[in-house]
Amino acid sequence: MDYLSPVALGFLGSLIAGLMTALGAIPVLMGKTPNRTLRDMSLGFAAGVMLSASFFSLIIPSLDAATERYGEGALPAALAAAGILLGMAAVALLNETLPHEHFRTGPEGPEAPSLRRVWLFIIAITIHNFPEGLSVGVNFGAHGLAEGMPLAIGIGLQNAPEGLAVAVALLGEGYGRRRAFGIAALTGLIEPVGGLIGAAIISVSEPFLPWGLAFAAGAMLYVISHEIIPETHRSGHQNKATLGFAIGLVLMLFLDVWHGQATAALAPPRRKVLDRKAKGLDHFTVVTPGIN
Ligand SMILES: [Zn+2]
Repeated sequence: MDYLSPVALGFLGSLIAGLMTALGAIPVLMGKTPNRTLRDMSLGFAAGVMLSASFFSLIIPSLDAATERYGEGALPAALAAAGILLGMAAVALLNETLPHEHFRTGPEGPEAPSLRRVWLFIIAITIHNFPEGLSVGVNFGAHGLAEGMPLAIGIGLQNAPEGLAVAVALLGEGYGRRRAFGIAALTGLIEPVGGLIGAAIISVSEPFLPWGLAFAAGAMLYVISHEIIPETHRSGHQNKATLGFAIGLVLMLFLDVWHGQATAALAPPRRKVLDRKAKGLDHFTVVTPGIN
């Protein structure tokens, strides 16, 4: 697949990751509704993958890219911090300003508080799928197929429980199976939009790379803390949710490090850099983000 341009890769990769949202919602379409415990656990898993991905696939690469550009010192950390805070603020602002009213039910629908909460959750899931796509696109755009892959896999994995959670929540508010599934699938389709934009921007302008990566991480961190973890703790399943969280976290860690080493074996010139990174010896290793 190396003949694909970075932009095409970014789009396709994030599209496939986004479609995992629909895949996760399929049980609802088939009339199977998993119980609340399983949902809280799988959503906890999603939060774990997202947290791990924020650091290993976004923040550390952002620091690497900034260090390569501006040298060591406080600047890379300051830049990453600013990018993270900007990403968090952007989602917070979107959460505040989006016209939620438009998403309430039709004329006969009562404005139940639970319905409003469900839609706020869905909006948050949808919003954060944009920076998720962005980060997959940025990764493919900057580092190519092999190095972009772990993040794409991780994002795809955590999309499945998110899709399931959205569909099940809608089912609980009286939506039909097909509509619940359709809306869940739609929330994932924002991802390739982000992927396309991310890959395009990075291919055109490399200085955006550290910013884009940190921004995407910040947006994801906001949703983890503000929506996903509270959602998994609402029904008294904190222990199971935290177990899911731990599994997601270490799975993404494994995916990132192990895949990084496999990639290094295929591309000898980078081996040293990635080996050091994998051993945690140097988080500020300079990785050359060669275009293509
Ligand atoms: Zn997510």
